[in-house]
Amino acid sequence: MAALEIPKFLAESYDYTEYVEALNWIGGEWVAGSTGETLDVVNPRYAKSISRVEMSNADDVQAAVEAANAAFPAWKALPMRERAQVMYRLKYIMERDLEELTWLVSHENGKTYDEAKAEVLKAIECTEFGCSLPNMAAGGQLDVSRGVNCRQVYEPVGVCAGVTPFNFPLMVPMWMLPQALVAGNTFILKPSEQVPLSAIKLAEMLKEAGLPDGVFNVVNGGKAVVEALCDNEGIDAFGFVGSTYVAKLVYGRAAATGKRALALGGAKNHLIIVPDADPAVTVDNVVASFTGCAGQRCMAASVLVAVGNVDKLIEQIAEKAKQIKVGEGLGAITNEQSVTRIRRYIDEAEQSGAKIIVDGRNTTQGEGYWVGPTIIDHASKDMPSAREEIFGPVITIVRVNDLDEAIDFENSNPYGNASAVYTTNGEVARYVVDRVEAGMVGVNVGVPVPREPFGFGGWNDSKFGHGNITGWDGYRFWTRPRKITSKWANQKDWNWMS
Ligand code: NAD
Repeated sequence: MAALEIPKFLAESYDYTEYVEALNWIGGEWVAGSTGETLDVVNPRYAKSISRVEMSNADDVQAAVEAANAAFPAWKALPMRERAQVMYRLKYIMERDLEELTWLVSHENGKTYDEAKAEVLKAIECTEFGCSLPNMAAGGQLDVSRGVNCRQVYEPVGVCAGVTPFNFPLMVPMWMLPQALVAGNTFILKPSEQVPLSAIKLAEMLKEAGLPDGVFNVVNGGKAVVEALCDNEGIDAFGFVGSTYVAKLVYGRAAATGKRALALGGAKNHLIIVPDADPAVTVDNVVASFTGCAGQRCMAASVLVAVGNVDKLIEQIAEKAKQIKVGEGLGAITNEQSVTRIRRYIDEAEQSGAKIIVDGRNTTQGEGYWVGPTIIDHASKDMPSAREEIFGPVITIVRVNDLDEAIDFENSNPYGNASAVYTTNGEVARYVVDRVEAGMVGVNVGVPVPREPFGFGGWNDSKFGHGNITGWDGYRFWTRPRKITSKWANQKDWNWMS
């Protein structure tokens, strides 16, 4: 077993702090990629490099597949309870290192301390789900006829791969790992090249938790690595979380080799607000939903569908948004291209006649990448800001006359990740919940993330493939059911149907 090698991340505040280069973790060794190319890992708060990441290729993927394949038989042969012990120890390590992990997530991603801490806590909750699997995964059995028994067990599929986005460097990998590993698979993670540092820390934590070498591997890089993971016939299952454009591409490419695939994509989440909405619940919740993580989350509110006259609520939402202190209550934007994209959406809306009632376009802080909270009001339904994913702290208000018009507008959007309604009327809530085209729906909840054991996953262009990535569905995705039919007595007088 290789010794632990990744040093502690020393930051204890937002102060600029460098960290070690993100190498590849293959078969229990830290190794450089075979291209010799690296990319800067930038802290968006300062627009300054804190590390470098290997930009690997298909050869590195092949090395990881071989390591994962070699580790598979022994890992699979362990009783599930023993595999789950690694998750118990990982949970302890993450709790012990909570502060360090929080600052690491904050520095590599740009989100605030509180948001980073919430992310680490959510990653711990995912780990707990892995701990609970042996108590849930007993499968089923039945005497299907006299003397004949059928039982169903869920077996690992083999070598699995996961590709993750920049916005949750620790949590999204932990959406996949607990279920995949406790089920008995081995795994190759390709984190976003923008945020590879939590992933290398994860490798180190799993090592400390006692995971055998080769069971978990990290291959760093970008598109070339993802394409190699899709194409490699030694990989049996492929999970992806990222933008819709890439999700659609990789879903088709991975499935073309016969591996199972699940690819979660982008979003355009609608919040429907009706006049009877409770301001005490609605105002804070809407603002938190569109500004949390600087709007860089797939569950962020992006369109506010105002039904009838809700002007008072909109005024309060605008006031609340203006009070947010950029840098303290609002984190940085991931990179310069994203800042340009977000500003372009706001400019376009303004040029097409919408009103910018809260304007974060000119927000700056040192050299970092920032956009302040922004509210676009009186947008038309066909404006790009009302239809496309902006992925920034921006909400676009579209005004409609009644609930059916609100639902029709939401359902005309190709995405289907999340939607929410704010009301004090149960009938209105039920009417919306039953009709919106979204996989995750909130009632007075602006970020309706289903917590374990429920599964996370949208509909339509927000997801390609069947099922959800977390919870029980996640376990089903990383396993295949085996059905065993047994007959032990020599029952000459019974046939199998009797
Ligand atoms: P992205 O699609 O640009 O990148 C995601 C991953 O794909 C990264 O690891 C990246 O290296 C890789 N990649 C990028 N371009 C590729 C290409 N052309 N071919 C193959 N691989 C490629 O996404 P991002 O910018 O990192 O993350 C933001 C997006 O992720 C948003 O659209 C957001 O809504 C979405 N997201 C969705 C969920 C969900 O659960 N549905 C969760 C988090 C983020």
